[in-house]
Order: sequence, then structure tokens, then C-alpha cells
Amino acid sequence: MNGGDRMELERAKQAIASADAILIGAGAGMSVPAGIDLMDTKSFAKNYPAMLQYGFTFGYQLMGYPYHDDRLKWGYLSASLHNMFQLGKDDTYQKLFKLVKDKEYFVVTTNIDRLFHKNDFSEERVYTPQGDTSLFQCKLPCSDEVWDAKVLVEEMVKHIDPETQFLTREDLIPRCPNCGGEVYMNVRSGGFFIDDPYLQGQVNLNNWLKDNGHKKLVFLEIGVGYNTPGVIRFPFERMYAQLQHADFIRINMDDSNVPLGGIGLQMDIETALNIFLTN
Ligand SMILES: [Zn+2]
Repeated sequence: MNGGDRMELERAKQAIASADAILIGAGAGMSVPAGIDLMDTKSFAKNYPAMLQYGFTFGYQLMGYPYHDDRLKWGYLSASLHNMFQLGKDDTYQKLFKLVKDKEYFVVTTNIDRLFHKNDFSEERVYTPQGDTSLFQCKLPCSDEVWDAKVLVEEMVKHIDPETQFLTREDLIPRCPNCGGEVYMNVRSGGFFIDDPYLQGQVNLNNWLKDNGHKKLVFLEIGVGYNTPGVIRFPFERMYAQLQHADFIRINMDDSNVPLGGIGLQMDIETALNIFLTN
């Protein structure tokens, strides 16, 4: 770390220590240490070896992939959802919680893995506008209904052929209880997305900003790239421009440029959190 970086890090640490309120914006980078890395070929080959024969080498290739066979679709989806559901307490999330738990905090995250919820962040203070993989919905959709995915997933993963990744019990392929049509995770990946479950989160965020916007506020953005910059990155920069008394910290390995006056930290979140937490 050069002297300039060290100074920026110290500035960030001071800003967090003296803040009354912290607005966290977390992207995919936040969940990488927990093992959710859609670009990682190594963990993909280890977890889904049968997928390699079809030419897939990392998870991101299967986002929105038009499967030709529902047995492969649900064989893979149920396995990857099962792996995500298994995740619980995570060291990086726990460190972030420790950093903010005694302050007024609020979280906006594009992550759909529920890791904030699983790591003690309060439900009312976490807004997940991109949805939640633990819920299913009709892919039409024929109604605004969403339902629990976990029971269905745990049943499916018991019936996957390890040689082909196919779901061997076609009767377990999830169907909409209403119209019998296709089902998908309740995540924002097309016009079919049902956002009703997340509207309260937007209300909570607005109320939180009303209550805390005038206080000593820090925007703490972590691992947010350019996949969906309209959800966190750009709104955070706009809010910072309006609240000039606030501090702005961006932790990002690839895109750490910040608006004037902000603090850009080009480092991994683990390193930054460890330094923030040392006395
Ligand atoms: Zn339906």
C-alpha cells in the first residue's frame, strides 16, 4: 500500500468512527468471500462437474440461459439454490455488522442471497430491490403471488443424476399453483419480476433518509460494479451530491473512482474492514 492509499484508508476509518449514520450499498463483491462468485471456474467445476460436458465453465453463463430441457434447468438451479441456502454466518458480513451495529445503519443491496439477513442485520433495515432467491413466482406472471422456494428445492436436490445434472423426477419440476405455468426465482431478471415484496424496503429507505440525512452520514459502497449501476452506484453518487456534509467511501477492486471529495479504496473488503475495526 502506498502512502496516498494509507492516508485515504485512515480518512475512511475516521469518517466511519465519527459517523452517526451509515448507508451501506453492497454489490456482488460483498458476497465473493462467502463463496458466491459467478465468475469463478474452480468452484463451478467442483460443485457442478456434470455441467462441464455441456460447455459451461462458470455460473454467470447460466444467468437467464434458455434451457432446452427442464430437467437440466431444475437439476442445475436446485443444486445452485441449495448451495446458496446452505450459507449462513460469514466472517466478512459479521465484520461489517460489528462495524455498524451501534450506529443508525441501512443497507441497500443488489445481492439476492439473504446474507445480510443471515448475519444479524435487521430485516427492516435491509432493502433488496433485485429480489430474493428463497422465493418463487409464476413466470408469466398470472398473479402477484410469491411463495417459499426452500422446501421445493430441498426435495429436488435429492433427485439429481450426478452424471448429467438432470432432475430425475419430472413431477418435482415446480409449477405455478395458479395457472400450472413455468416458475422462476423471484429475482429481477426480466419483465416478469414481481417487486411487491420489496416495495416496503424502498419506503423504509426513504424514511431512514428523512430521519438520518441531516446527521453525520457516511455512504459506504462495497463491491458494486457496473452490472446494474442504476440500483446503487449512481443513486449513491446523486444523494452524495445533494448531502454535501456527508462522507462517501467506495471500496472496489476494479472501479474505485469517486466523485470529488469522496474516498476511493482500491482493495478487497476484508483488508479494509480489518483496518476499520482495529483500534
Ligand atoms: Zn401462474
